[in-house]
Amino acid sequence: MALEEYRRKRNFQKTPEPSAGRVKKRAEQLSYLIQKHDATRLHYDFRLELDGVLLSWAVTKGPSLNPADKRLAVRTEDHPLSYGAFEGTIPKGEYGGGTVMLWDTGTWEPLDDPQAGLKKGHLSFALNGKKLKGKWDLIRMRTDEKRENWLLIKEDDEEASRSANEAYLEELAFSVASGRSMEEIAGVEEGKPAKLKKTRKTRSAH
Ligand code: MN
Repeated sequence: MALEEYRRKRNFQKTPEPSAGRVKKRAEQLSYLIQKHDATRLHYDFRLELDGVLLSWAVTKGPSLNPADKRLAVRTEDHPLSYGAFEGTIPKGEYGGGTVMLWDTGTWEPLDDPQAGLKKGHLSFALNGKKLKGKWDLIRMRTDEKRENWLLIKEDDEEASRSANEAYLEELAFSVASGRSMEEIAGVEEGKPAKLKKTRKTRSAH
């Protein structure tokens, strides 16, 4: 896909997201990350570095440690590697407007040829993130739709958990980069919403 679609969708005068600058080539390790994104609809953006870009999927329900769960992962446009460090707020009205949290970061290791896997529609890989670890699969579903629907599935290994459910996403609802909650990233002081409203001053007559 390259990055044309990424650039086309965004106005870099208005959004703090990176405009796709270069990132220093690190070791052979490939980066992996998840950004929790409170846009029109809350979702988790799952990203894997490959060939100089971040392959991307939007996982509405978030990842599950339970191998019995198949999480819908809609493929989205490739993102620049520099996007992997982004946490902040995209202005309302801009593409993807809303708060972005760096939910997990780390590296990934393809367990099969990843280029062939992308074509075939099956990526098998191991994650070494701060939150997610172990073996995972991304499997493309057959569809007539224009968008690519994949399934994100945990493989059954020591990192899997049958009992894991949505509560685990709640327990881990903090940024691995800053420790902040979504509200803190959005700039709202928790428990003090009234303070924000003070910024709108009424003009005093004199
Ligand atoms: Mn997103």
